[in-house]
Amino acid sequence: MTSTPPDPAHPELTPCPGCGKLMHQRSLQCLQCGFRPDLANYQELLGSLGTISSILIGFGLSGVVTLATTDSEKMNSPLLYWVEGMWVLASFLLLAVLVLGEFLRRTEPDEILLVAGSREQDRYGRRCMLLLCVFIAALFLVALGLVLLAFNLHPGVGAVTIVGLLLACGFSWYWLTT
Ligand SMILES: [Zn+2]
Repeated sequence: MTSTPPDPAHPELTPCPGCGKLMHQRSLQCLQCGFRPDLANYQELLGSLGTISSILIGFGLSGVVTLATTDSEKMNSPLLYWVEGMWVLASFLLLAVLVLGEFLRRTEPDEILLVAGSREQDRYGRRCMLLLCVFIAALFLVALGLVLLAFNLHPGVGAVTIVGLLLACGFSWYWLTT
């Protein structure tokens, strides 16, 4: 691999870590070899988190409103207050993920993005991972609320929901680890 030296006339061009040819320091993919800096992957992750979060916020809030306005004996159990609390909390967490993620996605680190292990890029990566953790916590709250709601309807429905949840978790785990 021959690394093309940086051109003083074009300081925005930097050698690609993949092939050594000059590429723009803010480009998200090398046109020569297809190398993608970590930042491009982070930005994609943030985009997906934002999309899923906005869907879940809509689901959570409409669920809370439905529970709060349903007037039936079965819907008056203290268990449902927990469900509502969890979904409200999850919606706020997801809102934070949505807003902060969008903010982060539009912020470009000042240092050269392609330099692997640069402090700006590390910080960017840590923030993305933090948002991912908050997102997973919110997802867990939404799922737990669903399970409680199902058990409130009928123990059988609750059991089926738990089986569904375990299947979903197992499938995700299999997907991520193979
Ligand atoms: Zn390249």
